Amino acid sequence: KEDKLKEVISHAKEYGYIFPSSEIYDGLSATYDYGQLGSELKNNIKNYWWTAMVQMHENIVGIDAAIFMHPKTWKASGHVDAFNDPLIDNKDSKKRYRADVLIEEHIEKYRAKIEKDVAKGIKKFGDDFDEAQFRATNPNVLRNQAKIDEIEQRMGEALTNEDLPAVKALIEELGIACPISGSKNWTDVKQFNLMFSTELGAVAGDASTIYLRPETAQGIFVNFLNVQKSGRMKIPFGIAQIGKAFRNEIIARQFIFRMREFEQMEMQFFVRPGEEMKWYEHWKNERLKWHKALGLGENNYRVHDHIKLAHYANAACDIEFDFPMGFKELEGIHSRTDFDLKQHEEHSGKKLQYFDPELNENYTPYVIETSIGLDRMFLAVLSNSLKVEDLGEGKTRTVLQIPAALAPYKVAVLPLLKKDGLPEKAREIINSLKFDFNCQYDEKDTVGKRYRRQDAIGTPFHVTVDHQTLEDNTVTLRDRDTMEQTRVNISDLKAIIGDKVSL
Ligand code: ATP
Repeated sequence: KEDKLKEVISHAKEYGYIFPSSEIYDGLSATYDYGQLGSELKNNIKNYWWTAMVQMHENIVGIDAAIFMHPKTWKASGHVDAFNDPLIDNKDSKKRYRADVLIEEHIEKYRAKIEKDVAKGIKKFGDDFDEAQFRATNPNVLRNQAKIDEIEQRMGEALTNEDLPAVKALIEELGIACPISGSKNWTDVKQFNLMFSTELGAVAGDASTIYLRPETAQGIFVNFLNVQKSGRMKIPFGIAQIGKAFRNEIIARQFIFRMREFEQMEMQFFVRPGEEMKWYEHWKNERLKWHKALGLGENNYRVHDHIKLAHYANAACDIEFDFPMGFKELEGIHSRTDFDLKQHEEHSGKKLQYFDPELNENYTPYVIETSIGLDRMFLAVLSNSLKVEDLGEGKTRTVLQIPAALAPYKVAVLPLLKKDGLPEKAREIINSLKFDFNCQYDEKDTVGKRYRRQDAIGTPFHVTVDHQTLEDNTVTLRDRDTMEQTRVNISDLKAIIGDKVSL
């Protein structure tokens, strides 16, 4: 699996999806640049999300708030005082780790044991194997699951209570060793604030310290009344936003999974107090449906309910995806109560209440948040799509089976030869398609090599223009996934491609 991530990273660079940032200066850790194809894919993911969340919901609107916000925002939200990671240093290797991540990685070992037992059962009994029954009754599975539950429970309590000695005690009791040196010689656990700060204007001192937002959500909360009033929104309604967020992550590794500058796609859904659990379940289901509709494989998702709740939440879960590094958080769904709006009322002295005409009363709404990392979604799509296929006779092909709706180019138009009017005909076809689809023209190398290149880039359709095209206006249409070739009329291309690339 480690190798898979390396393959993804090198493929992403070779074909212009992702480059290390400032590479000529040897790069900057945990920062990446999206290349010419990467930015297309990223835009398509954003559109897919925005369409599903904003365009498809009459009661959800989108905003684009500034990255800089009044410093009081972060005092009110709790980020100044409580947006910390618990860090621990290994005294021998001098390496620094997130204590919670060390514990979670330890828990993964028990999960892996369970999955191994399940896999054995499937292998042995095939279709006769009752997996659910096995998970519910097998003594080994039950023992491992109980261990997982116990550790999660203890870690959750320790972190929620900010009981740092208890976190350290848990690490020692579990015998967790430094992944690099194997040493179990740990320092005490310390808190580290994740916000980046900078100075506003030329004045120095506390008053001018501002932060780069660590989440986009607060831009929505402070605009809650602006949007509600100007848009005449009625509860329940949502406000969506896509934008950059910044966190001074300590362990920034695993490619674009954990970066210091990243993008979030968030939606805050404002509901009546008391109705939040209903809406929490609703959005959990909706968001899972959204993921599964994309076709990356239903078994690649897992829902992980939180035991450790953030200071603002009364229920929370993660939608996890099977990345090359294993199952990890892709999206968070949180029931944030009225915490944020109440805090902003208190710190700003302004009322952030809603008058509910049906109930004939004022209240501070409760909030359900769906928050997905755009870069993590990108990594999910890219890593899931990259396949090396065995074509027999020792031949392989590398293909990027990106869902057609998200692919950077929808169609490549290739003249068989660079002469006889074929390039001109190919350009004519592009001119007729480019208003509807992002098209690519390529005339370099043999057509076989060009097919391979389009496979590797992830273009779902390849159109070849040959001499017959000049006579009867038909072309060869090649499918990226099946490699099947069919002869079709130029006038049918738009409908055929359009059908496949729409979701
Ligand atoms: P993690 O536990 O992985 O640090 P989190 O629980 O702190 O993530 P949230 O605060 O819930 O994350 O943020 C919502 C989403 O933003 C996450 O589900 C993830 O997709 C994305 N995200 C958070 N931190 C990063 C990061 N450093 N790099 C890329 N994406 C991130």
